Amino acid sequence: MIDQELKVSLGVDSIRDDFPALHQEVYGRKLIYFDNGATAQKPQTVIDSINHYYSKENANIHRGVHFLSQQATDKYEQARRTIQSYINAPREEEIIFTKGTTDGINLVAFAFGETLHEGDEIIISAMEHHSNIVPWQMVCERKGCQLKVIPINEKGELKMEAFKELISERTRLVSITHVSNTLGTINPVKEIIEIAHKNGAKVLLDGAQSIQHMKVDMQELDCDFYAFSGHKVFGPTGVGVLYGKKEILDSMPPYQGGGDMIEKVTFEKTTYNVLPFKFEAGTPNIAGGICLAKSFEYLEKLDITLVEQYERHLVEYAEEKLLKIPGMRIIGTADNKTSVVSFVIEGLHPFDIGTLLDKQGIAVRTGHHCTQPIMEEFGIPGTVRASFAFYNTTEEIDTFIQALERSINMLQ
Ligand SMILES: *Cc1c(COP(=O)(O)O)cnc(C)c1O
Repeated sequence: MIDQELKVSLGVDSIRDDFPALHQEVYGRKLIYFDNGATAQKPQTVIDSINHYYSKENANIHRGVHFLSQQATDKYEQARRTIQSYINAPREEEIIFTKGTTDGINLVAFAFGETLHEGDEIIISAMEHHSNIVPWQMVCERKGCQLKVIPINEKGELKMEAFKELISERTRLVSITHVSNTLGTINPVKEIIEIAHKNGAKVLLDGAQSIQHMKVDMQELDCDFYAFSGHKVFGPTGVGVLYGKKEILDSMPPYQGGGDMIEKVTFEKTTYNVLPFKFEAGTPNIAGGICLAKSFEYLEKLDITLVEQYERHLVEYAEEKLLKIPGMRIIGTADNKTSVVSFVIEGLHPFDIGTLLDKQGIAVRTGHHCTQPIMEEFGIPGTVRASFAFYNTTEEIDTFIQALERSINMLQ
């Protein structure tokens, strides 16, 4: 029983005890939370740290001479170093606190975008989240650049040959998702980064769906930017991180102007602060940053390789059971995938299935998952998506399958 061994080695039962939100009922049924791709639940340590921060430590940072302000500043800067160390970024000033993945990508789209010229090209892919499409369309409109899109095959994998044809000396940036939130595909990002660098292009990885599921190492990947959201990595909402290589960040103009990002302000001329503060205008989400570090401290204690294996097992287990259901079509069947199972059932609308699952205590997401171009590619209006985290179990999947069968019977 590979299943039970993995579960025991990872300590899934005791992990579950750390997440209070998992232990409740909805509509009188035990909650099964399979919507981790939208946002993850939080461990008690993160929840406690938010309470503690506002009860005892609240102060503004980088400004005050008083005790609380200095303590909050130290903790916020320590949080930056905790995250730096977790993703193995070379320098702490390369960790920029943002509001989340969307904010990080917009920061790069605006500030790196300012260094682009007419005729420059940006490459994205057909499986991007709207957050990694629309900011680039806005840059292209502003700067007269061209957006190129890597197509995907019927399994939901990037067509790498097409990528090699799209890239040229005109390409300035390749912005690609590390893991697809809709298909679960793990993209061959190391190869993409190597090819891009050979062509003189920079690479941004949308890490919203990868950092919580696998080891990510900035120096090993050698990406130029990496953006992720705190709330998907078991931390608070409203905070995230953009990693960027120092020399590139230094060459970019600021994104927003205000407090904290300046060195000296006069009406004639303002000079900007050093990294990372140049990109952190205004009072940040101080509690968010400090408490996000707590979720990395939590992750640090887990064996991430085991997490990867366990989650892959959950996906394979779910797919095997789902495929026994008549009319089942799994959307996203890449050889290398993780944590997400998207599907449609012939003749049934995903929303109806999701609604009936909800009434049985099961939280999934239905719809286009902010990836409308993927829906068009597969010729479907949306999918039902179950997305797993390391606290989910095969027993929950069994209950989900039973509930799904019941829902299908009701709808047919
Ligand atoms: C969730 C998600 C985003 C957007 O993240 P926000 O937290 O909403 O900013 C971007 N890309 C992918 C792949 C996502 O899953």
